[in-house]
Amino acid sequence: MSTLFDNIQTFLLNVFLLYFCYSVYFKFIEKKSNKLTNVAMIALISGIAIILCMTFPVMLPNGYTADFRQFPLILGALYGGRRVAVFLLFVLLSYRFYLDIPSFEQAFFIYSLFIFLLCYIIPRFNKTINIQKKVLLAVLAFLLGTIARLTMLFLFLPEYINLYYFGLFISSAILQSLGVMLFVFFIERARKEAVLAKEISKLEKLKTVSTLAASISHEVRNPLTVTKGFLQLLDDSDLRDQDKKHYISTALEAIEKAESIITDYLTFAKPSLENTKILNLHQELIHIKGFVESYAVMNNVEIEMSLEENIYIASEKEKLHQCLINIIKNGIEAMPQGGKLTIELKYFKSNATINITDTGVGMNEEQLERLGSPFFTTKDLGTGLGSMVVYSIVKAMGGEIYVDSAPGKGTSFTVILSTAEEAEIN
Ligand code: ADP
Ligand code: MG
Repeated sequence: MSTLFDNIQTFLLNVFLLYFCYSVYFKFIEKKSNKLTNVAMIALISGIAIILCMTFPVMLPNGYTADFRQFPLILGALYGGRRVAVFLLFVLLSYRFYLDIPSFEQAFFIYSLFIFLLCYIIPRFNKTINIQKKVLLAVLAFLLGTIARLTMLFLFLPEYINLYYFGLFISSAILQSLGVMLFVFFIERARKEAVLAKEISKLEKLKTVSTLAASISHEVRNPLTVTKGFLQLLDDSDLRDQDKKHYISTALEAIEKAESIITDYLTFAKPSLENTKILNLHQELIHIKGFVESYAVMNNVEIEMSLEENIYIASEKEKLHQCLINIIKNGIEAMPQGGKLTIELKYFKSNATINITDTGVGMNEEQLERLGSPFFTTKDLGTGLGSMVVYSIVKAMGGEIYVDSAPGKGTSFTVILSTAEEAEIN
């Protein structure tokens, strides 16, 4: 009973060793695709597995031993190719020689013959993409191995052969070939899934890029058309000076719009901060108000400010402006019938808190959840990129952003940024 228990332990140990070795390999193969490293890795892992299997064989009654060395030998050869097969043969024979297991010459002959036969199966195994065919080829390789070992027994060690040993031999061969079948099956399925997942993410990226490109060209084309029109008008030599000025300023405005759109896209692509300076938030917010004032007046929106003074942050001016202007513009656009937009700046626990509240249409839960994801817009002429840029800038500034909204009542955005240290300011 106790020998049986010991055997089960060693048996499980072998299964565990093999499982461990190959799961390391497949974790590795998922990350890298360099073929040479893969081959080196499978050679190394299979070599180690062979040595481990031979070091911890299962002891059978009557002094027989059995081990699973054939398993890593075949898997390594099938997945690594002919070179790995020869390398593993070398490892197996050297270790066998080192362990001083009797009848080395015979084993040398038989294993070499086996590897020679295996070299016919390997290219077929690698070429087929059909999982069932692969499993079949792996089992065939295993059968060849079993036949080779049986031949060795009959030819060189006939004294070993009795019904009991034969039974053991066959049942261990069946068990191992089942193992090989399962292994190849799961490996191939996992590989197929990994390839599919890669394809899908590639397609998704492509889709985002093409939507982005379409949306950029659409957005930039409008202001360019405007500019082109006014430049054509300027060609007329009878123009009054006043008209000329008007045309030029309108054309410039349109170009600025195109520029700001491009900046938005680029910010999303590369949100890191450059040109970081100490900024006085009170001043910056007054500056920003100047930018959006005319837009607010056009939309019948009154901007109210309540700003504490002497709050400083270290950041990039353009990005800070871009972020807050996007929030403010969304606030103004949320009040098509006009309304009030409040901008508050407070100092709280060494943080600067900027609060932008509108009395507009608000957002429901689903909209709140989608806010910040590319191309989410509820506006006819919206790009659905503004909030995405807002989120990526706040993240780059190391800040936090909170949104509170009620449909029909309004929305409040809170941006929290850590303030600059005294030493930095001076
Ligand atoms: P766009 O302004 O081009 O639509 P944004 O990414 O800036 O794109 O905003 C995405 C969507 O989020 C808007 O279409 C709008 O539905 C919603 N949203 C953003 N800010 C507000 C706000 N202050 N009030 C109501 N809805 C808002
Ligand atoms: Mg917007």
